[in-house]
Amino acid sequence: SAASAGLYTASDQVVLLSRRNVGSALVNSSAAMVVEFYASWCGHCVAFSPVYKKLARDIKEWKPAVNIAAIDCGNEENSKVCMEYEIRGYPTIKFFPAYSEADSTGVSLRASSRDVLGLRRRVIDHLEGHKEPWPPACPPLEPISQAEIDVFFETNSVQHLALIFEDVKSYIGREVTLDLLQFENIAVRRVLNTDQSLVTKLGVTEFPSCYLYYPSGNFTRLMVNYEARTFYFYALQRLPAVVRSGKPPVVLTEIHTNRTEEPWRPFNRSRVYMADLESALHYSLRVELAAREVIEGDALNALNKYVSVLAKYFPGRPTVVNLLKSLNSWLQNQTAGQISYEAFKKVLDNTAQAPNAALPEGVRWVGCQGSQPHFRRYPCGMWTLFHVLTVQANVTGGSDPLEVLNAMRNYIHHFFGCRYCAEHFENMAKDSLELVYTLESAIMWLWSRHNRVNNRIAGALSEDPLFPKIQWPPPEMCPFCHTVSKSGEHKWNNEQVLSFLVSYFDSSSILTDYLE
Ligand code: FAD
Repeated sequence: SAASAGLYTASDQVVLLSRRNVGSALVNSSAAMVVEFYASWCGHCVAFSPVYKKLARDIKEWKPAVNIAAIDCGNEENSKVCMEYEIRGYPTIKFFPAYSEADSTGVSLRASSRDVLGLRRRVIDHLEGHKEPWPPACPPLEPISQAEIDVFFETNSVQHLALIFEDVKSYIGREVTLDLLQFENIAVRRVLNTDQSLVTKLGVTEFPSCYLYYPSGNFTRLMVNYEARTFYFYALQRLPAVVRSGKPPVVLTEIHTNRTEEPWRPFNRSRVYMADLESALHYSLRVELAAREVIEGDALNALNKYVSVLAKYFPGRPTVVNLLKSLNSWLQNQTAGQISYEAFKKVLDNTAQAPNAALPEGVRWVGCQGSQPHFRRYPCGMWTLFHVLTVQANVTGGSDPLEVLNAMRNYIHHFFGCRYCAEHFENMAKDSLELVYTLESAIMWLWSRHNRVNNRIAGALSEDPLFPKIQWPPPEMCPFCHTVSKSGEHKWNNEQVLSFLVSYFDSSSILTDYLE
């Protein structure tokens, strides 16, 4: 299609524009729009596209105030439209204020450096200089004064006011203000270090630093490992009663008493449970696959690889591993080029009653429980399963670094019931799976792509309010995984992340509670 032939796909956080939808997207929008006009044949544009995608992921939370879009002017269909927007070269990035009119051609977004940091700051400059009408979802970005704070809680229904003290050149206050605009019960404002009365009143000596201010006039310092944007974002999101707009806060006691068919199983949120892995196997092998009467061709190859990876690396109870092994050898012995699910099911259920081989029936979600029956569960179990398998392949020294990821890719592609999940996953695999050349980079690839999915769907309807989608693991789970660059940008410490994943998903860390 025209959209996927360009440099961006539906899996990026970029609104894909074309001749057909450009008007409805840019005219009279309640959010400001940043639009890249590019040509897919232009080498500069190709080189720039990863930066633009990264920018889109980076300011994803700002969408209601300012959204990111792109249009391929190299596509003949769009060339006339691009001329109307007075595009003279590629790539050109333009800012369209909210409620732009049909004849608006936008203003060029001139960044001194075309990296995420430079671009993000220009976006803020344009937002701050926005004329009336101001994008309704955009909070005030100018510094707050004592007088405004005094009446703040009378005019704003929030529980927390976070004040970020900083010098005039710092962007952190405005960044965090925008990062939290989709959350309720919290407001963020910047205070300049030159505001003597507030600086003195709170006794602020470090810039930047963040304080929580309460209606009573009390205040406390927000404790973070680094005084930087991402660390404030993680910490503020975790404050009591802070939830995404439109999502009611969930109280755990409600779950105990609600009518979900099963009792809630208390669990440790920072551990992996064998019950989830076995439940994922049950659901995948007995429910998802059962949708096929006959499995053949590429789908059969995908199933073979999936079961062979399970037989090799699933760190399960001996009976489960035995069953996976017998399932695998049965599959390897099939030469007809197709199998019936019924025959497969007989082996799976061990109807021959071979000793010490069984996969327990039914699901028993523990770490993958959701606050409602339609949240979490099977997809959570599948992610967990494949993280465990990439780690296990590394421990046992598998020979092909892509063995597990290819098995996952093909299983998801052929069988995973969530079809748009499968499509997004395939896009990511196509895009970057070739970068994986060691068993360790396979672990890291899956971790980082899982975080991309978390970024893309944070705040979506499918998100369990009790388990918000965050960039994982958060600092409180792995402090050393997080660091900052000289410019204050958040950076993952990849070595630390790897050693965290290797131990978190290791077979010796898997808890066996709630197994039958
Ligand atoms: P999950 O994202 O399922 O994660 C399970 C657990 O893994 C978490 O509780 C956490 O402990 C841990 N974890 C979280 N992040 C990471 C990480 N980066 N690395 C390692 N461990 C981590 N849903 C959509 O709406 N759109 C999609 O496009 C989509 N694509 C998907 C693709 C695949 C391959 C799969 C398996 C699922 C996909 N889903 C998609 C479902 C979605 O990703 C979640 O699985 C689902 O919303 C349940 O979320 P959860 O809160 O249980 O956490």
